[in-house]
Amino acid sequence: MSKVFVFGIDGAAPRLVFDEWLDDLPTIKRLINTGVSAKLNSTIPPSTITAWNSMMSGRDTSELGIFSFTYKDKNGQTQIVTSENILCERVWDILTHHGKKSIVLYNPLTYPVNKINGIMVSGFLALGIDRKSAYPAEIAEKIKQFPNPDMFFDVAVGLGRHKALDTSELIKRVYTMTNMQLTLLKDLIVKKEWDFFHSVMIGSDRLQHMLWHHFDETHRKFIKDSPYKNALKEYYKYLDAQLAEILALLPEGTTTIVVSDHGMVKQEGKININNWLIEKGYLVLTEDAKNKIKAGGVRFRFEFVDMTQSKAYGLGAYNARFFLNKDVLGEEYDLFKEILVEELKEILDDKGNPLETKVYTKDIYNNPTHPECPDITVYFDDLRWASNPDLGQEGIYSWQTAVGADSAGHSRQGIFIIAGESVTRNEKIDDIDIRQIAPTVLQLLDVQIPNTIKVKPIILK
Ligand SMILES: [Zn+2]
Repeated sequence: MSKVFVFGIDGAAPRLVFDEWLDDLPTIKRLINTGVSAKLNSTIPPSTITAWNSMMSGRDTSELGIFSFTYKDKNGQTQIVTSENILCERVWDILTHHGKKSIVLYNPLTYPVNKINGIMVSGFLALGIDRKSAYPAEIAEKIKQFPNPDMFFDVAVGLGRHKALDTSELIKRVYTMTNMQLTLLKDLIVKKEWDFFHSVMIGSDRLQHMLWHHFDETHRKFIKDSPYKNALKEYYKYLDAQLAEILALLPEGTTTIVVSDHGMVKQEGKININNWLIEKGYLVLTEDAKNKIKAGGVRFRFEFVDMTQSKAYGLGAYNARFFLNKDVLGEEYDLFKEILVEELKEILDDKGNPLETKVYTKDIYNNPTHPECPDITVYFDDLRWASNPDLGQEGIYSWQTAVGADSAGHSRQGIFIIAGESVTRNEKIDDIDIRQIAPTVLQLLDVQIPNTIKVKPIILK
């Protein structure tokens, strides 16, 4: 039996890690050359909180019950999701039943933390450093001793707030955060007992969203000779060097996984999906909403929709998720859905060019009756065009939301690399499903895979 160590790099894209920058990432290159690697098909949608938790549970988005950062509560109000919204067990819960020890660091959507056999420190979406952010509580006290504890979980407090930061300030904060996270990680690797050690670095995601146009010459907003043209690559090189130090600390025989939850793709712009629905006459706002909407945009809220008149409304950044109103549609539901799908595929870019739009309906999910399950999920131009559900912007195209702009958005595929004594197969394999990682970890740790996990472990020998 092997111990398993996971080094998660949020949003690491196959194009950068496997191709363009590989020669500058010697530690990752060595792992690829001695183990199994693949592109990883992320969840639908490829959102950070769904993807990491699908990876760690072996279950799909609908079984997790998490489709987004927000959900509609029973009073029809917008709420932010917490770990308590997750419907299924994750690897560390299963390992706890089997007496195995886990250390889980910075996995998105682990706030409030749950009591496991081991240690858990929350990550993205943690609301602060308190007893809900770390288990056991003494770890939270340790975090408070760092020089910038308020940046321990994210570079700025509040959803999407990193988008409002000046570029040099963002980069500075990403390093401050990552350094603190890695210091605690290294300390726990050597001082505590564990069978499974899982960690997620969110800094890469924060930088990628904002820096893509500084290095990608094909980006619509490419800045030639930008002082930040190497900033993202430098951060990857820094993570790679840190990983080398970490690998040297791991107990002999540990299996190492380097993985991302999704990739990234340059962003051409955003489709203002609710404006589009309003123009079509499918969405009607309440009088109260019309008074609250100001130029520049406000975040969409469920309370803004007049549900007595609207046929549909849309949610989602990067991907778009449409919810149809059966109360208004009645018998017309199926036909309306078909029409809407066709009309969504026909949306053109701002210059009149067709988009390579992908559309998914509920039947892809194992638990399609979950109330948060969208009727239609759309990847405009395979996610090169994002969705903007905000209200108050003009027309159907925009280049920023109410919280700021993006240089890149999430794409469908991330990276997967596994190496160690228990991996004797040595090749690049076909694309894997993100859900295959949980059963792979359980198998490596000699724990029976629960029959609720329907996907098979990755073949490593
Ligand atoms: Zn992510």
